[in-house]
Amino acid sequence: MIISKEGCTVYPIMVPAKYGLKTFNFYLVKEAESLSLIDAGVDSEECWEHFTKAMAENGFALQDLDRIIVTHYHEDHIGLINRISSIKEIPVYAHRNSIHRMKRDKEFFSLRVEFFRQLYQEMGCGAAGEQQVQKLQEAVKKNEKYKIRADIMPLAESDAIAGLQVIETPGHSPGHVVFLDTQRRQLFGGDHLIGHISSNAIVEPDEEGKRIRTLVEYVDSLKKCSTLDVETVFPGHGDLIHSPGELVKRRLERIHRKSENILQSIEGGISTADQLAQTYYKNKYQSEFSLVMSEIIGQLDLLESLNKIQKERKEGVWHYYIENPILTTGDSFLAKR
Ligand SMILES: [Zn+2]
Repeated sequence: MIISKEGCTVYPIMVPAKYGLKTFNFYLVKEAESLSLIDAGVDSEECWEHFTKAMAENGFALQDLDRIIVTHYHEDHIGLINRISSIKEIPVYAHRNSIHRMKRDKEFFSLRVEFFRQLYQEMGCGAAGEQQVQKLQEAVKKNEKYKIRADIMPLAESDAIAGLQVIETPGHSPGHVVFLDTQRRQLFGGDHLIGHISSNAIVEPDEEGKRIRTLVEYVDSLKKCSTLDVETVFPGHGDLIHSPGELVKRRLERIHRKSENILQSIEGGISTADQLAQTYYKNKYQSEFSLVMSEIIGQLDLLESLNKIQKERKEGVWHYYIENPILTTGDSFLAKR
């Protein structure tokens, strides 16, 4: 599949993926005399083969590649950067909030482990939380191989890169950006919007170790993107998305429905994030602990930001409650925020 429009050609590279992601997508974009790679897949032979094949089939050599631009720092979006830059020295661009993570900054990653230790304690997770922290500690070592060796140039809101406008869309990850081609109404969306699954707003600390209210940010980013004039989204996974307005609306509604459910549970007397996670997700609480906790903590942030719930610390654990239940129904963030 090749998408040509008004002097710009996009060559999607879609590599089969497991776990419901369908595909890992990244994109070669040829505009005028410049060739860019947007995102860089997974560090695997399969991805490398797809990439080199796409280049060769379309008459490009690695030497023709001018830059790599990434939407966010997750491993399945930066995987081939080291392989490419070991053959050709090439500028790499990412949001400034992604750089220390792509560089696997040691200080930051140990701070991040401590962040989760404290977070899971405060959310009442007990042994399950400790187990997760153990896993995180092991991952810090294991993931050192993902460190990006190339220099990374920082991007920020409204920057222009390769004829594309940088738009900050934090939520799925800190420093997530999308790239808008205003002329052709095309958006390179990373994991901000995926057609067949809803993106997770994964809990993360900022550079100083302070918790980011990721779901609140994600909702704001979704709303921000709903105002853009876009015909086609090139997502990080799955099929291309056409006229994304309706999908954005569905995603916001889904978040709202979950909020309402969680609010009901709190009303019913379930007060900690851990209890809510176990009640709401049952078996997934064990198998997908960190994602499940992200989701619940995100929802609690959202409800708090709307003044629908309050919290109180008892013996080191946050308990959430509704001060005035009569005011909780009706208005939602869909209307209010
Ligand atoms: Zn991601």
